[in-house]
Amino acid sequence: MKLLSTGNPKTLKGMAQGYMTYILHLAPADLSGREVCPKRTAGCTVACLNMAGRGGMFKRGETTNVIQQARIRKTNFFFEERDGFMEWLIADIKLAIKQSAKLGLIPAIRLNGTSDLAFEKYGFVDNGVFYQNIFARFPEVQFYDYTKVLGRKVKAISNYHLTFSAADGNDLDVTKAIEQGYNIATVFGIKKTMPMPETFMGLPVFNGDESDLRFLDPKGVVVGLYAKGKAKKDTTGFVKFPSIMLKVA
Ligand code: SF4
Repeated sequence: MKLLSTGNPKTLKGMAQGYMTYILHLAPADLSGREVCPKRTAGCTVACLNMAGRGGMFKRGETTNVIQQARIRKTNFFFEERDGFMEWLIADIKLAIKQSAKLGLIPAIRLNGTSDLAFEKYGFVDNGVFYQNIFARFPEVQFYDYTKVLGRKVKAISNYHLTFSAADGNDLDVTKAIEQGYNIATVFGIKKTMPMPETFMGLPVFNGDESDLRFLDPKGVVVGLYAKGKAKKDTTGFVKFPSIMLKVA
């Protein structure tokens, strides 16, 4: 079982910018029986990218598929055999470094593709050496994630970039995240043919759908994302609608 995968259409766009993104997809929310998204909301749980692409394709009459089953297996592996999981993750990252070098690309690793775990907290021993977390094991590799968890202790980790995600009902956390210097990922309910709003919450909007390379984004922006899949039908407040925002402003 490989832990990291490539092939997400948006991360493929990053190749044009010289990066290959490798993503760990666990089973989000509590689909595995264990919660991996401590600050998930009703809206994001429904709109979760877990069901995007082949992950959401089921044979008639079935409620799961090989992708969902693999994500559950990986999540169980993480919780039940942490040492083994970290060993596999290290091996996968080493492979990612080699593979991307062959392609002339720089590897970038996203561990919370469909989860929101504080990977900075998970220390381990590799070859007799204790590492505080996976970021310390690969200081030369760029890691990045989106999170809804405020107060993660990552400021001192120079190779881990976090973007804070706005959702339904986390406005207060968003305000605090802005104060703490995070960029804010926001899903807008507009068609891909429409331009992003110029500003949101008083901040310039940067089109985050051009690539997934969040660590290259300018600072102090709202990272605008077009609503996809189930998010297009969101009524919870997870998706923000510029026309409504204009009326309120
Ligand atoms: S927090 Fe992220 S990964 Fe978890 S359910 Fe919400 S959108 Fe999905």
